[in-house]
Amino acid sequence: MTRITIAKGDGIGPEIMDATIKVLEAAGAQIEIDEIEVGEKVYLSGNTSGISKEAWSMIRKNKVFLKAPITTPQGGGYKSLNVTTRKMLGLYANVRPCVSLHPFVDTKHPVMDLVIIRENEEDLYAGIEHQQTDEVVQCLKLISIPGCEKIIRYAFEYAKQYGRKKVTCFSKDNIMKQSDGLFHAVFDEIGNDYPEIDKEHWIIDIGAAKMADTPEAFDVIVTLNLYGDVISDIAAQIAGSVGLAGSANIGEECAMFEAIHGSAPRRAGQNVANPSGLLQGAILMLNHIGQNEVAEKIHNAWLKTLEDGVHTYDIYKENVSKQKVGTYQFAEAIIARLGQKPNTLKSIKYNNSGALQLKPYVRKGSAEKELVGMDVFLHWKGMDVEELGQLISSITSNNLEINMITNRGIKVWPDGFKETFCTDHWRCRFKAKNGKKVEKSELLSLLTEANQKGLDVIKTENLYTFNGKAGFSLGQGQ
Ligand code: NAD
Repeated sequence: MTRITIAKGDGIGPEIMDATIKVLEAAGAQIEIDEIEVGEKVYLSGNTSGISKEAWSMIRKNKVFLKAPITTPQGGGYKSLNVTTRKMLGLYANVRPCVSLHPFVDTKHPVMDLVIIRENEEDLYAGIEHQQTDEVVQCLKLISIPGCEKIIRYAFEYAKQYGRKKVTCFSKDNIMKQSDGLFHAVFDEIGNDYPEIDKEHWIIDIGAAKMADTPEAFDVIVTLNLYGDVISDIAAQIAGSVGLAGSANIGEECAMFEAIHGSAPRRAGQNVANPSGLLQGAILMLNHIGQNEVAEKIHNAWLKTLEDGVHTYDIYKENVSKQKVGTYQFAEAIIARLGQKPNTLKSIKYNNSGALQLKPYVRKGSAEKELVGMDVFLHWKGMDVEELGQLISSITSNNLEINMITNRGIKVWPDGFKETFCTDHWRCRFKAKNGKKVEKSELLSLLTEANQKGLDVIKTENLYTFNGKAGFSLGQGQ
């Protein structure tokens, strides 16, 4: 018996959860259920996080959480419960299988069967944003070695456990050489531990285009948070319907399982919603807790139900579907087919699944870190970059000298183009004269001098080398 926490959520949530639990129980899932309340009611009671302390305790105690979609009220500073749950519980891996069910569910991609494994905690989703000048705001993209290692190892271990042949990495490291470059480098390094699995890397733009056009060319895709967010919805949609896909959010301690769609408030209370997405989430959950036989039984009965043309309104199609059913009738139809396998669709076999056991992250020794300069960011309203160049060059107090000025990353001084559009946000890169080492105190005196000259410094970034390798990128055009 495994104790799990469930939340019925909002909109169509209660109906699809009840239908899902009925199927789980009829299939003999060995689970005991604790129910918590999250979502709209909790938000509207004045709790901006949408979840109470008691509910958190329950989720953390049981460690396995099956969640129906919730409605985040518009406006009013309500925080997305999904993002909070993923980050608070360290659910670093988002796993979303996207499979087409041709010819029973309409799709342009009859042989699609891929899994997207999305990093779930870092990247631009750290939500660290600042307005820096009148014209410019920034959002910090944070990528860490442990973050990359955990998700990439997860992807390879997943491929191994589920008999997948290839893992594809999507990144944009031709542009973001440090951050996406790290993700790609870790992919190459960890990939060496899995010689039996094919590996490839695609730049995200053309990779996403290829995936939308020829999804059958992919097997497991591992990628960063933002790219994964976008491509996983595309993949679910082109497989046939976002209403059919479930996802797992996996951490070292806890895991959360859900449908990928929202609470569809307009369909609530009418017994019309398709419970398949949440049921797919529940199948991922059963595999996670080692109840593979039950997962397999439900999955095959679900495929047989779809194959028999028993469809909810969202996938109902004349000449393909045979019977249009509501939420509960659909669940009953699955229950009636427990023990059966599909005839046309490929039946499912879950072997030795269970929560993946990953090697814990081990921090490596520190690199030799050397301070070699500083990027000083200014709010400067002037238009003539030569004027700024002269002002900056007049800062002479120490061993640092101006190396370049960029605007939105593009080098504009020295030798800039008059065609380059400039905002009021400037980066002035100072580097040590003759490649000497820089002391922190020199940075402070440089800032003091800049301040005395009336320059509006809005932030700085230290420039380091790690084991002699630059830990910063060149200016574009440099
Ligand atoms: P949605 O996914 O709820 O609905 C999009 C469309 O798909 C609608 O036409 C809806 O009727 C249909 N649909 C969705 N699920 C279906 C199902 N199971 N069966 C049949 N049809 C289905 O997206 P939305 O309308 O953008 O969002 C509604 C609410 O859901 C918002 O408050 C949003 O914040 C929330 N939301 C929650 C989650 C979550 O809890 N994981 C995810 C996404 C959106």
